Amino acid sequence: MTGSEVLAQATELEDMDLSKTSLQRLRCATNLLDGFHRGLFGFLHAPKRTLSVNFPVEMDDGSVQIFQGFRVLHNQILGPGKGGIRYHPALSVEEVQFLAAEMTWKCALVDIPFGGAKGGVVCDPKVLSEDELRRITRRYITELGDAIGPNTDIPAPDMYTNAQTMAWIYDTYEVLHPRRNNRSVVTGKPIELGGSHGRREATARGALYATQRFLEQTTLCGFQDLSDVRVAVQGFGNVGAIAAQLFAEAGAIIVAVSDSQGGIYDERGLDIEAVLAYKQTHNTVVGVPETMSITNADLLELDCDILIPAAQSNQIHKGNAARIKAKLIVEAANGPTTPGADAILLENGVHLLPDILVNAGGVVVSYYEWVQNFEHEQWELELINQKLKQKIHKAVDRVVDRWGALSAEAERAQSNVPSDRQADEHCPCYPVDLRTAALVATIEHLVKVTLSRGIWP
Ligand code: NAD
Repeated sequence: MTGSEVLAQATELEDMDLSKTSLQRLRCATNLLDGFHRGLFGFLHAPKRTLSVNFPVEMDDGSVQIFQGFRVLHNQILGPGKGGIRYHPALSVEEVQFLAAEMTWKCALVDIPFGGAKGGVVCDPKVLSEDELRRITRRYITELGDAIGPNTDIPAPDMYTNAQTMAWIYDTYEVLHPRRNNRSVVTGKPIELGGSHGRREATARGALYATQRFLEQTTLCGFQDLSDVRVAVQGFGNVGAIAAQLFAEAGAIIVAVSDSQGGIYDERGLDIEAVLAYKQTHNTVVGVPETMSITNADLLELDCDILIPAAQSNQIHKGNAARIKAKLIVEAANGPTTPGADAILLENGVHLLPDILVNAGGVVVSYYEWVQNFEHEQWELELINQKLKQKIHKAVDRVVDRWGALSAEAERAQSNVPSDRQADEHCPCYPVDLRTAALVATIEHLVKVTLSRGIWP
């Protein structure tokens, strides 16, 4: 069966609407929080603001096209909104809302003073020229107006946007708000424009630090470091390609990687530098000499130790979860696993480090970039990596501790589990998975801050 046939079958098996995923996971986490103030559920779930803009752009051939863009501010209880900007033809407002909520959880989990936000434009960067992308970016940012700002909502890169896109965002904002230090309006900028050392690699590096810490702290996977551990990586962009490099440097054997056109496999381990060079000239990893071509569906089901989804959402679902052979899934992408798959993986003893923990390195170093911009400073790479490691280790320890406590509690209460909880296969409250433990720790923190600030007025 091809990847799209598997996905079509899975869509019949399971509702993959990301807004329902968000709701289900929040319900599950709040169920486990003692004394949760029920009145806060809607406040935590619903985005504070959803902005949708339509704007015209002149194309290279002189024609004019209308584009739709979004910016969602999910929650600002901890500070200004923070979140990437994605360019994708299938982008929907529901997806942006899901991703904005993920940012709220992520910032709270790693304890940085930001709320959650996300944005994007419905467009296909693969068929657009650099000039068209620049005009789309400038017009989109102009349409957002003061919805973004250094102290209100700060964009960053996400799928199919990069440091160049962030430079255009900065420049556009600067033109609209002259004669002040505007550098902190956007992160992920080029170094020479106030970008931070280590930001480009930060998401992948955070994923490495999270995995290493988790393996050190637990014996769940049967290996306690990355030496000779076989890793498959889905997605070979900013996050996936750098993760493949960093995991290989740490001793892992990268047996497979893929991009939107397909994947490659070599059981002896891929030479990641050679794959990067090939991708640069051929625009895909498919066809690297002396590798076997595989589909993205094959990659997910490979016999390996660690699977790193680093591309799209909803990749591991009810239709393929039972065939996943990896012992550990490291969610570098946002939302790559559906609730239906979570339940199957839990049942099958496949452990999963959740996205809000694994890919938080990006927003942590974005926060450092923001601080450096306010201070007119540029910190050394070593300092940034050291601070990032501390933050990620602390967050992993928090999740593992919480998971241990919730699991022990669940075991004690096993005989008293309410029947409705047992019946809900999408709400794996008992036993508890690492995703739920991370979300419980996060929500607890957000509730505490919300109640100590008080409900206005
Ligand atoms: P990117 O645009 O740099 O790369 C995306 C990669 O995924 C490309 O190689 C593309 O070919 C591949 N891809 C697209 N569709 C695919 C499919 N169906 N199957 C396999 N591969 C596919 O994007 P990125 O910045 O690396 O982001 C990847 C994921 O990481 C996204 O989920 C994003 O939200 C998440 N993330 C990124 C950052 C960041 O700092 N860039 C931070 C946190 C989370």
